[in-house]
Amino acid sequence: MNLDNVYKNLTIANNTKLALVVFDGVGDIATASTNWQTPLEVAKTPNLDKLARQSAMGRMIPVAHAITPGSGPGHLSLFGYDPLEVEVGRGVIEALGVGIDLQAGDVAARANFCTLDANGIVTDRRAGRIDTSICEAQCAILAKAIKKIGDVDVLIKAGKGHRFVVVFRGTGLEGPLTNTDPGREGMPIAAATGPAKTAKVVAEFQKLALPLLKDCKPANGFLLRGIAHQPKIETFEERYGLKAACIAVYPMYKGLAQLVGMTKIEGAHSLQEEMEMAVEALKTYDYVFVHVKPTDAAGEDGNFAAKVAAIEEGDAALGTLMAAKPDVLVITGDHSTPVPVKGHSWHPQPVMITGEIAGWDGLERFTERAANLGSLGVFEAKYLIRYMQANAKRLDKFGA
Ligand code: ZN
Repeated sequence: MNLDNVYKNLTIANNTKLALVVFDGVGDIATASTNWQTPLEVAKTPNLDKLARQSAMGRMIPVAHAITPGSGPGHLSLFGYDPLEVEVGRGVIEALGVGIDLQAGDVAARANFCTLDANGIVTDRRAGRIDTSICEAQCAILAKAIKKIGDVDVLIKAGKGHRFVVVFRGTGLEGPLTNTDPGREGMPIAAATGPAKTAKVVAEFQKLALPLLKDCKPANGFLLRGIAHQPKIETFEERYGLKAACIAVYPMYKGLAQLVGMTKIEGAHSLQEEMEMAVEALKTYDYVFVHVKPTDAAGEDGNFAAKVAAIEEGDAALGTLMAAKPDVLVITGDHSTPVPVKGHSWHPQPVMITGEIAGWDGLERFTERAANLGSLGVFEAKYLIRYMQANAKRLDKFGA
């Protein structure tokens, strides 16, 4: 028995509206260094408090027990896809991250400039962490000279610092390929091995590109990693019968949402505008995903006060979406980014589901410790969409 098929067979269509608001990395931990409190506990959150008093709460394991996820797998889970089964290569995530509109079958690689000595030995795998402006200038040199290799289009786009992305677009390409990064200094650039046509195109790309960089110091070479093709993924509409839209400011989240067939709605410059666009989108779409980024950045910086401020800003903007009264409204994170950790972590993120039949757990605030007492318990994030469907009365009874 395939559980996804069970859900699919139980899926009912109706006119309900579902909204998912992701405060990126919102989950946190209380330690001595934070006076045994979390940013959610310290923040003043009248809107979240209001929702808490009509919600079911719990905590979610983003990928699997004790695994610290990136935001990519974290979001795939929230969208109901098992991130261990639907593997999206790092090159694909990176390409989405720099805003390349990937097409099915595209092969993408994360690339970074490196330093080579006269014998082609890698002496610095990060080329002294050159400035983004140098990276952009060198990517422009490559992009101008190499547009096509045989029948394959080549797209090159600069990222931050020494990082950039190369996308190969054409028929018959597939990944994954091994890295050209030897993994340590003192070795030459490795050959990428994998499916024959793609490996040949990658090798040809290196042959054409490396001479163009020979006078560039210190970034006279580059390494390719995570070379993978965009996987074919069942869309949101096929899987859940939901027409979905995404409202996010950062390219990677828009990219991930597009990967599962959501329509990206662009143009928001603030959380307030994101929420206004979400309200508008709910008029034509069944499901809307809203991404709130600042919470994660504050956690990464280990800045407690900034994370409190980010939560409060998100809370204020939330009022607009709440006023539109979606049938099911979920507030959560894609993972925890605890201030004491200064990075992502495995700690289950709190989740809150509001809806006519969500039931009130008797909790007054949306915090990690409140969520520990909630009726949803601790569950895998990939089931969140199922709870949303059920709360929207979009899942029929199983069995007589
Ligand atoms: Zn994240």
